Amino acid sequence: MSTRAEQYVADVVAREQLTPHLVRLELDVPGFVSTGIADEWVGLVVPGQYQSRYYTVRSIDPSASSGTARIVIDVVVHDTGLVTEWASGDPVGRQVTITEPKGSFLPPPDAGWLLLVGDLTALPAMARIVAEQGASAPTRVCAEVPADSRLDDYFVAAADVSWLPGDGPSRLAEVVEELAFPDGPGYFWMAGESAQMRAIRKHLMRERQLPSTHYDVMGYWRSVTRRQPRAVDPGPIWRAGKAAGKTDEEIWADYDAAQQGSDQGAEQ
Ligand SMILES: Cc1cc2nc3c(=O)[nH]c(=O)nc-3n(C[C@H](O)[C@H](O)[C@H](O)COP(=O)(O)OP(=O)(O)OC[C@H]3O[C@@H](n4cnc5c(N)ncnc54)[C@H](O)[C@@H]3O)c2cc1C
Repeated sequence: MSTRAEQYVADVVAREQLTPHLVRLELDVPGFVSTGIADEWVGLVVPGQYQSRYYTVRSIDPSASSGTARIVIDVVVHDTGLVTEWASGDPVGRQVTITEPKGSFLPPPDAGWLLLVGDLTALPAMARIVAEQGASAPTRVCAEVPADSRLDDYFVAAADVSWLPGDGPSRLAEVVEELAFPDGPGYFWMAGESAQMRAIRKHLMRERQLPSTHYDVMGYWRSVTRRQPRAVDPGPIWRAGKAAGKTDEEIWADYDAAQQGSDQGAEQ
């Protein structure tokens, strides 16, 4: 059995600057098959590079043309970065490689509410979750974004969204610690800067004592002072974790540990 993940060659067909920090790209991907999981992501390898970076599939039009899906990804452009620099230029007409999609949003059957918290990198996933799952349970979103990237029409109209200031370092861990959670069992989903996510995992386990089946907290990026030396592919970690019967939480903790190992290796 091959363990090699599926890859797709995709054409970049459109680019739109949604805000100074957010660029929307549309990709035509022949043969693309969605997981159907609302926070699904793909690895993106841009021309001339071999490292991938991970981006949420914000939306999919499966019928762009026969056998080809048109997918939308929204890319945060920050100070410096491999994909940041490429997406800030003129990518339309270029070919990229994307890896097969994976997803981890999995509310338990007894979830009577959804609480979604994230920074700008999590905005695409939160918006897709609200669009696809919002009707299943009362849903609240807390989005920490720079003032110039607050997009009132980014979410479906009925969404309950609190916009938190996001111009400085992330304060999401503090925000969540002070947040009133709804009563009864629900599902807490969160993504953003990894150090904030590690703090929140501890808080959920120790203070809130949430069962691990009732939350999903993912480090989407690491705040380091230089370009990341080596992308750690979540795909193999995900597959190995699932095969070993680990929970989503344990798998994301393994991913954090692998990223930290990658950083430490590069610093030596
Ligand atoms: C499952 C998953 C889904 C994701 N979905 C999205 C998505 O939909 N949209 C999206 O934009 N990102 C998303 N990310 C995060 C994205 O993969 C990282 O931010 C990635 O590092 C960006 O690559 P880059 O080439 O721009 O910067 P890199 O070359 O990776 O990093 C260069 C420098 O930029 C810093 N940096 C990286 N990301 C950020 C940031 N967001 N803000 C400030 N500084 C940063 C790093 O610390 C480093 O110093 C997701 C990540 C995961 C794991």
